[in-house]
Amino acid sequence: MAISVAIVGSGPAGFYSAEALLKSGANVAIDIIDCLPTPYGLIRSGVAPDHAKTKNVARAYEKIALDERVRFFGNVEIGRDIAVSAMRDLYDVVVLAVGASRDRDLGIPGSELEGVVGVAGFVGWYNGHPDFRDLAPPLDTENVVVIGIGNVAVDVARVLTKTPAEMAGTDIADYASTVIFGSPIRAVHMAGRRGPLEARFTNVELREMGRLEDCAPIVDPKALPKEVTGEHSERDRRLIERNLATLREFVSIEPGKRSKRVHFDFFSNPVEILGNTNVEAVKFERTIVENGRAVGTGKFFEIPCGLVIPAIGYYSQAIEGVPFDERAGRAANKDGFIDDGFYCVGWIKRGPSGVIGSNKPDGTRAAELILESFPRGDKPGRRAFEALLAEKNIRAVSFADWQKIDAAEIANAGPGAPRRKFTRIADMLTVLEEG
Ligand SMILES: Cc1cc2nc3c(=O)[nH]c(=O)nc-3n(C[C@H](O)[C@H](O)[C@H](O)COP(=O)(O)OP(=O)(O)OC[C@H]3O[C@@H](n4cnc5c(N)ncnc54)[C@H](O)[C@@H]3O)c2cc1C
Repeated sequence: MAISVAIVGSGPAGFYSAEALLKSGANVAIDIIDCLPTPYGLIRSGVAPDHAKTKNVARAYEKIALDERVRFFGNVEIGRDIAVSAMRDLYDVVVLAVGASRDRDLGIPGSELEGVVGVAGFVGWYNGHPDFRDLAPPLDTENVVVIGIGNVAVDVARVLTKTPAEMAGTDIADYASTVIFGSPIRAVHMAGRRGPLEARFTNVELREMGRLEDCAPIVDPKALPKEVTGEHSERDRRLIERNLATLREFVSIEPGKRSKRVHFDFFSNPVEILGNTNVEAVKFERTIVENGRAVGTGKFFEIPCGLVIPAIGYYSQAIEGVPFDERAGRAANKDGFIDDGFYCVGWIKRGPSGVIGSNKPDGTRAAELILESFPRGDKPGRRAFEALLAEKNIRAVSFADWQKIDAAEIANAGPGAPRRKFTRIADMLTVLEEG
């Protein structure tokens, strides 16, 4: 009998696990289950809408989904519709690949004010994730503060400051582009408590900030060290050097007629968000960095703003039946092993770091662990899962169904855009009823 495998989550980690199992040559029947009717996780709802090339990786995942040993079941949430314990009873192997969908807490006074919108929700909103399409972030403001100096913060700053022409060929949600282009935004402040040596932008993303049509990058030259100091791997050192060179170029860019600014506010530790009910400003303490750690100097300053987007890291949603490491915000696991027949991969395993390809080794490792454990292949798997879905009256979305949704999104696209996303699950299901 084939080993029945349920992979919960259809992002990169889920697909790389399926790929590794298929390539192993073992006799497997793999069900990939996602709470959304749409596959691909953050490729669809995280990667910035203007980075279409990055999303092309989904074509490789599509090939995996179309393998005859694989089935996709969208619109089924494990932990809500079906318990983790039930999945473990049904399948020889369960691989958790649910990612990290929540924001890490900022944990400073004022975080609860109206106008503090975590980056997980904000990015989900402009990318048309159904959970966030009604978020309504207050963009009727001239100043936005993004707390964080990494690639996700850069994505947000770029999406907020690109012109309609620059965003024309993208799949940004219509409601989001309408609000963003209609907003009076003049400045986005990206603030981080440490400095350029610690910031982990990839250089391609950073350089893009110098080439925006109507937005100039602003960097305080005093924040830039003359050389790279501290212990770094050779690879990190090269990256930091490239980023420093780019930031130096930014210092010399004349804003000219560009009407918007993105400020790189290094050495700025947020200590309080100020306001009565709505955000009015963020209070920062100026820092210096000693041995890689930010240390307060006792000097404070404020940046007025109407929207604060903390982009300080993601955190996984705890699911009943999954031992959880609260401090790290991920499943408690040892190299991907949770319990007999139960594994995890990707961000739920390692925490929210790394690029798409960083999830591939997790899939390979999970497949190794699974096959080393010699699963017997004696659980009912797909047949019993489908029976349970029918019994619970759950309308699962197959891969063929997703292909219809995909085709409808492509057909609905505006001029030059790759697709117009459906942003409500009900609308996706309507496409299936009609077709
Ligand atoms: C804003 C942002 C931008 C990024 N941009 C880039 C980029 O440009 N390039 C790059 O290389 N990397 C980028 N990354 C990183 C990359 O997206 C991640 O490394 C990768 O998506 C993590 O894969 P994952 O499979 O662990 O999680 P995810 O991609 O989050 O996939 C998890 C899947 O599980 C599903 N799920 C969650 N809970 C349940 C449940 N209970 N039941 C069923 N299904 C569930 C979700 O719907 C989702 O489909 C970005 C990340 C973010 C946050």
